[in-house]
Amino acid sequence: MPNAFWCVVEDDRAGHPKKVMAEVLAEAARLSGGRAEAVWLTDRAEPDGLRRLAEWGAGKIWLVEHPGLAPYRGEVWAPVVAGLVAAQAPRAILGAVTSRQREFLARLAARLGVGFAADVVGLAMDGDRLVATRPVYAGKLLARVAWARPPWIATLRPNVFKPADPVAGREPQIERPTVTVPDGALRLAERREEVSTGLPELSEAELVVSGGRGLKGPENFVILERLAAVIGAAVGASRAAVDAGWRPHRFQIGQTGRTISPKLYLGFGISGAIQHLAGMRTSKLIVAVNKDPEAPIFKIADYGIVGDLFEVVPALTEEFKKLLGK
Ligand SMILES: Cc1cc2nc3c(=O)[nH]c(=O)nc-3n(C[C@H](O)[C@H](O)[C@H](O)COP(=O)(O)OP(=O)(O)OC[C@H]3O[C@@H](n4cnc5c(N)ncnc54)[C@H](O)[C@@H]3O)c2cc1C
Repeated sequence: MPNAFWCVVEDDRAGHPKKVMAEVLAEAARLSGGRAEAVWLTDRAEPDGLRRLAEWGAGKIWLVEHPGLAPYRGEVWAPVVAGLVAAQAPRAILGAVTSRQREFLARLAARLGVGFAADVVGLAMDGDRLVATRPVYAGKLLARVAWARPPWIATLRPNVFKPADPVAGREPQIERPTVTVPDGALRLAERREEVSTGLPELSEAELVVSGGRGLKGPENFVILERLAAVIGAAVGASRAAVDAGWRPHRFQIGQTGRTISPKLYLGFGISGAIQHLAGMRTSKLIVAVNKDPEAPIFKIADYGIVGDLFEVVPALTEEFKKLLGK
């Protein structure tokens, strides 16, 4: 269908789209009057993954399944999607704010010579143009931007846009376009799988527990993990904790880490530097625990506890256990 809104699928690398795609597809459907389509580049797409995309609102799925597409390499993906864009002329190309989509959609926009709005927190049609709202200056201001010409390319911040109710049993309509997958400039030399923590993925999590330098050492993150396990939260960290080697960089929240918008952010031993706030200030409810009553994080917190986290975290964990009957 011409002038559809395309949604580039972020998957779990095991054949299933991530749940953030429910948000991206719902927004694309809302803006385009139901003309949302998914574009999935992968080495394998599981049938239930395809069904899920249809149930989340993809009227059509452009599926390019090829072993050369994984692991992701921008120089391989960009010409493939640019070729599809030339043939199908979508009006917009949307993705989620993930490290892969952030890089890919910027590269695609540069290749197509069109604009790219990153980390969008609002989208609206203004007549026949799309207007995006995105934070600038580490979240201190919101800017509204429009594109000089289509396709309008943007990444959407997870947990901001409302997913549609899934339509159970909706069959996917799949198109397998004939494309040439080029050789990449880089080859995979070694693959290291991170051991899963069993907790939700940070950028998609509805609840986030985060720790900073106040934790005093890597061994103390275990108290945050216990709390997180009780309430089903992801665990994040400040850059001070990451730079100290207490947590891997993928757990860092902030300007040079992940941007999150959970329903609940619980920050422990984090001062609230502007670069940290840039990554979490759009959280719906912010709770901060710090022993310094002057800590800047209290300025943006909805609730604050002035206290020692080593007393507060175990007490909170016990209270949540009682509340949740665990
Ligand atoms: C270019 C640039 C990019 C950056 N990007 C990021 C980023 O992406 N993310 C990020 O987080 N930072 C980033 N930073 C770093 C940022 O400026 C801060 O240095 C960092 O966020 C501080 O981390 P923190 O709050 O854990 O540590 P601190 O600022 O040292 O704060 C520790 C807090 O713990 C409290 N505390 C100590 N003990 C306890 C206790 N027992 N109980 C309760 N509270 C306690 C203290 O009162 C203090 O407020 C960036 C900086 C620059 C220059």
